[in-house]
Amino acid sequence: MTALTRNDRPGAYPPSWYAATAQIAPERAPLQGAARADVCVVGAGFTGLHAALTLAEKGLKVIVLEAHRAGWGASGRNGGQVGSGFHHDQRWIEAQVGRERAHALWALAEEGKAMVRDFCAAHAPEARFRPGIVSAAYSASEAADLHRDAAHLAEDYAYPHIAPLDRDEIRALVQTPLYHGGWIDRDAGHVHPLRYVLALAARAEAAGVTIHERSTVTGIAQGKVARVRTEAGEVVTDHVILAGNGYLPGLDRGYAARVLPFNSFIAATEPLGDLAPKVLAEDVAVFDSRWVVNYYRLSEDGRMLFGGRAAWGLTFPKDITSKLHQRMVRMFPQLAGAKVSHGWGGTLGITRTRLPVVMRVGANIVAAGGYSGHGVALAGLAGRVMAEAVAGQAGRFDALAALPSPPFPGGAALRSPLMLLGMGWFSLRDKLGV
Ligand SMILES: Cc1cc2nc3c(=O)[nH]c(=O)nc-3n(C[C@H](O)[C@H](O)[C@H](O)COP(=O)(O)OP(=O)(O)OC[C@H]3O[C@@H](n4cnc5c(N)ncnc54)[C@H](O)[C@@H]3O)c2cc1C
Repeated sequence: MTALTRNDRPGAYPPSWYAATAQIAPERAPLQGAARADVCVVGAGFTGLHAALTLAEKGLKVIVLEAHRAGWGASGRNGGQVGSGFHHDQRWIEAQVGRERAHALWALAEEGKAMVRDFCAAHAPEARFRPGIVSAAYSASEAADLHRDAAHLAEDYAYPHIAPLDRDEIRALVQTPLYHGGWIDRDAGHVHPLRYVLALAARAEAAGVTIHERSTVTGIAQGKVARVRTEAGEVVTDHVILAGNGYLPGLDRGYAARVLPFNSFIAATEPLGDLAPKVLAEDVAVFDSRWVVNYYRLSEDGRMLFGGRAAWGLTFPKDITSKLHQRMVRMFPQLAGAKVSHGWGGTLGITRTRLPVVMRVGANIVAAGGYSGHGVALAGLAGRVMAEAVAGQAGRFDALAALPSPPFPGGAALRSPLMLLGMGWFSLRDKLGV
């Protein structure tokens, strides 16, 4: 069983606060029989829908095949943080790929962030893009490191939007005694991700894209024209874009060896009322420096949306919320009495380097994923860049494809058990604070 079927009811959005507060479109018809396309996209999340929209706007005939519903995957259930850059800071990236390429990568990530902000401003005001992400440190030395990153971005990247926060400043903003400093990035932000991705699907359709839901791709026959198969039909197509990220089953072994499915969980409380500003003094999102990261923000109706990793294993635990509640109360004792109203999990893709994987997996098949917790901004950009490559402009695709993307030890077959062992170790380190 894969992540596509292991933890969810087929065709149903998870029981998230997002699904409870979004206008879900009627189900779209599955693929039946044969169809012809210029491009067939597998997966209707940020990656696939941005790719499809870009191609349709260039006049190509695009069919999107989605196993469940548009936005059903990580795109419709994440923490909503639209971060700057990548999982690693720019100094780390410079050390890996050199200063010039690091600058080019930063510019791409900035474009990805602008894509979200601009799309929401123009087509999805209901997704409520709100500026402000705080990065929080548990020790003075981690805080000093974050301040060095902020200074480096200001000086070397002409990025003036990050302000360092000392111990008192962060505690005034994020009201927990656990943090010792950090920064706030006022050009990053947060959105209601399901409303954003649903608007993206609607926009893609308006541009001429056909989306088939409940249409799991079971295999691809490669050739000058590829044949993309589902149980009930087949798309004959000149190009294929694989946009399944952490949910993509073994359609391609090289991709599967590089992008590891990884689960994360979110709990929403009942509205906090007067308590809300006693947790976060501003409407910003927060993530912290634990390897098993905590990420959280307030919803528009004053709930705490608190995310993190609460259990190990590829199958979701039966009880998602009580461990998250414990973590939340350890951080914010003032929330001890806050009841949880919704709890859900999702699967993202991570890579060994935590840089995205963008790759050619066949003569006319490309794939991207593994945004390692930064996909709200980076997935759309990767979709756009794959669309450019399909349309004959491969420069930016090639630049991303040249990034180091080593397979996980054990390849497609053994990577998950080995990774779980590794994560157990990092979780222990978080608990010990080392
Ligand atoms: C709980 C959680 C919190 C997160 N928080 C953040 C955050 O705050 N900020 C951030 O930047 N990132 C976050 N992420 C990661 C982010 O959501 C993802 O990187 C991003 O949504 C990836 O988009 P995608 O379109 O590539 O993949 P997805 O949105 O997962 O879409 C892939 C789609 O492909 C479909 N699919 C897969 N295989 C097939 C097949 N064989 N046939 C047909 N369809 C198929 C799936 O059904 C799915 O709908 C989080 C993820 C999770 C799970």
